[in-house]
Amino acid sequence: MSKWFSPLWLVLLAGAIPSLGWAQAVGGYAAGCQFDARALPAKGPGFYVIRGSRERFYGQPALIDYLQTLGKKVEQAQLPPMLVADIARERGGPFASGHRSHQTGLDADIWLRSPPKPPHPRRLENISAVDMVNHSLYILSPQFTDRQRQLIALAAQDPRVSRIFVHPLIKQAMCNTYGQAPWLNRLRPWFGHSSHFHVRLHCPAGDKHCEPQPKVAPGTGCGSELTSWIRDKSGALSSKAPGKPYRPVLPEQCQGWVKP
Ligand SMILES: [Zn+2]
Repeated sequence: MSKWFSPLWLVLLAGAIPSLGWAQAVGGYAAGCQFDARALPAKGPGFYVIRGSRERFYGQPALIDYLQTLGKKVEQAQLPPMLVADIARERGGPFASGHRSHQTGLDADIWLRSPPKPPHPRRLENISAVDMVNHSLYILSPQFTDRQRQLIALAAQDPRVSRIFVHPLIKQAMCNTYGQAPWLNRLRPWFGHSSHFHVRLHCPAGDKHCEPQPKVAPGTGCGSELTSWIRDKSGALSSKAPGKPYRPVLPEQCQGWVKP
């Protein structure tokens, strides 16, 4: 075969022309973009999308499948539907405000509160968060019940998950309930995650421009690392400080593709 017809050219061409429909996550979670994203439907078995007018409901096929599969597990477990908030913009890249990550279509926020009753679209649009931590007493609030524990456990069991960020007190509650469960180390303590948890998937196989994060250390992460997070309450305050808009340098493939 002539080298001009090498399959390599097809691969290069498909990478250069996203409209060919090759979904991929490009770059890092906090400096990247996505091609051929899919939209999570506004609702489905076991879930609702909230604040849909922001148009942050686009993700890579693996993440959309993950969320829809999780919704079905939530329904099977007879839990109230989960509320899916920010995923990513259609082409990814940084948000105008808010989080640094969510750029490659592999991150999603899931709220811990139950849906409004009835779950009218206008209510899902204007919904307010419920904080599961009483920050002045530094304890979990009574709203954090077995429903939240089960939801986080279901979310963490999928092997596609790299990390789930939760407030340190929530990680502690999960350690207390689930002991030695092998998925506990996917739950990473991080301040600011007291009304939602943040799911991050691994780079999908074959996405060669997707930059993975280092693997989490083996073990449940319920020991000394968690204790140090719980002691360091100062971080809970600094994480709320308003920052400048985050404008990272994006990989070459994303330049001209991501809208400002
Ligand atoms: Zn998030």
